[in-house]
Amino acid sequence: MKRVLSLFTPSGRPTLGNLLGAFLPSVRLLPAADCVFGVSDLHALTSEHDPALLRERSLELAGLAVAAGLDPDRCLLFLQSNVPAHAELSYLLESTAHYGEMQRMIQFREKSARQSAVRLSLLTYPALMAADILLYQATDVPVGADQAQHVELTRDLATRFNNRYGPVFTLPHAVHPPAAARVMDLADPVAKMSKSVDSPGTIFLLDPVDVVRRKIMRAVTDSGTSVEFDPEAKPGVSNLLSILSACTGTPVADLSPGSYGALKRDTADAVIALLEPLQRRHAELSADPATLEAILRDGAERARERAAGTVTAAKEAMGLLAA
Ligand code: ATP
Ligand code: MG
Repeated sequence: MKRVLSLFTPSGRPTLGNLLGAFLPSVRLLPAADCVFGVSDLHALTSEHDPALLRERSLELAGLAVAAGLDPDRCLLFLQSNVPAHAELSYLLESTAHYGEMQRMIQFREKSARQSAVRLSLLTYPALMAADILLYQATDVPVGADQAQHVELTRDLATRFNNRYGPVFTLPHAVHPPAAARVMDLADPVAKMSKSVDSPGTIFLLDPVDVVRRKIMRAVTDSGTSVEFDPEAKPGVSNLLSILSACTGTPVADLSPGSYGALKRDTADAVIALLEPLQRRHAELSADPATLEAILRDGAERARERAAGTVTAAKEAMGLLAA
């Protein structure tokens, strides 16, 4: 059975991209795979952050994951910081990794170049991500292209550890969602929609439906009038077609909305039809915070149990004595 690990950093408010590219594909995997779903709140500490906002976003993210169908009875859902083994294994892996290989990570180079006071945790972030993956002996890690290098590093660290200290870790594979599963920014369709980018073309899952409709009706389209799927020549129209296809389950080739206006209306209707029940479930959960708290408490407990075996094996292999 595949063990699929997905991490979600509460770096912003979840978007339509997160729903179509991560939540719903994970929900479809639930019957056939062992799914581990972590809110990576520790990763949010790698750059300047507001504690109250982090708290709010972590809960919102977990609540939206449940509302989207990541049923906590059928997968493991937890907050990373509630499972101390993540930080513990991260240190052990830091003691396996080299300074140079961390410094060479593209994401570190890009993000550190934009900041004046670079947090040390930004440099060591890939070791924590490796710990997240290796703790649960994940086989598959769905990631965007930007995270592929970190999964590759995870494999290198796991291989190095296993060769030096003994076979403790399963080697994970990065699995990449198809390009069509990438939702682009409606106002700038050559850029990916991202929760940490506040653009007029980002659809947040908790946007009121009239706001959703307005954002879609104002989406940038392309020159010409014909509705054709051609991401190179017509990125705006192609993005709307992909979204409409993903929301309705109809292949792009079978969609024929006629005009740009009709395409936008159909897309808005389809997105809203998907978001309304999700927002309703999220509102129910929010009205009763004890339910989500109990889900996360139970998830953390199960995650701690599952992680303990790996961390103990890694410590023993490295020569650390049990208490
Ligand atoms: P950030 O701006 O902080 O990187 P993000 O929106 O890119 O936020 P991530 O936390 O990086 O979200 O990724 C969470 C999951 O959502 C990943 O599985 C990622 O592949 C998926 N995802 C993110 N954005 C999109 C998108 N626009 N289309 C499809 N999937 C997406
Ligand atoms: Mg991202």
